[in-house]
Amino acid sequence: TSFNELGLAKPLLTALAQEDHQTPTPIQAQAIPALLEGHDLLGIAQTGSGKTAAFTLPLLHRLFETPGNVKPLSPRALILTPTRELAGQVRDRVAAYGVRTSLRTGLVIGGAPINKQKNMIRRGVDILIATPGRLEDLMKQDAVSLDAVEYFVLDEVDQMLDMGFIHAIRAITAKLPEDRQSLFFSATMPREIERLANALLRKPVRLEM
Ligand code: AMP
Repeated sequence: TSFNELGLAKPLLTALAQEDHQTPTPIQAQAIPALLEGHDLLGIAQTGSGKTAAFTLPLLHRLFETPGNVKPLSPRALILTPTRELAGQVRDRVAAYGVRTSLRTGLVIGGAPINKQKNMIRRGVDILIATPGRLEDLMKQDAVSLDAVEYFVLDEVDQMLDMGFIHAIRAITAKLPEDRQSLFFSATMPREIERLANALLRKPVRLEM
């Protein structure tokens, strides 16, 4: 398979060529068509599998193909990661693959000034990449609304639970619209995580890499 055959929008294919991504990795080849069809996804995948592009490309495709006016405070896509470092890496990938779209991306992590983050969200972003603790803080201050989220990604869930983010995850997911596409990635899938996935996903496609 090539990226061209997967049905991705032109600006994304151009960006992939610029990034020198010639062939989809196995998880990309399987996940991207299912995600473009609108399915939820449960991915058991390690770092290095190419999972970031697997969830980022369909997200960018969807937002690009159905442009909506982003309302202040209300991102259309939310990506949660356990650590600031990972959030930054995901943001860099989103920026690289989305460079030919005019979609706006915001980063919300602890240890950085919260007021700048509030202003950025108020101006409006299409895609918000966040760590759970800081996002929860912003929610408590009514500085962000999750009402418009149509695409939701939980990355490295096992690590999030190890870091004690279960309550933050529950508080965040409780505010998401019912009608959304959800993706869930974890390197391991013990029963506790399986249960969380079942609660958050609707008839997910399950991929093990
Ligand atoms: P990830 O597993 O998402 O952390 O990605 C691992 C690395 O692989 C990242 O540096 C990506 O830029 C790179 N990568 C992802 N997909 C591809 C691809 N299809 N071809 C070449 N490199 C890729």
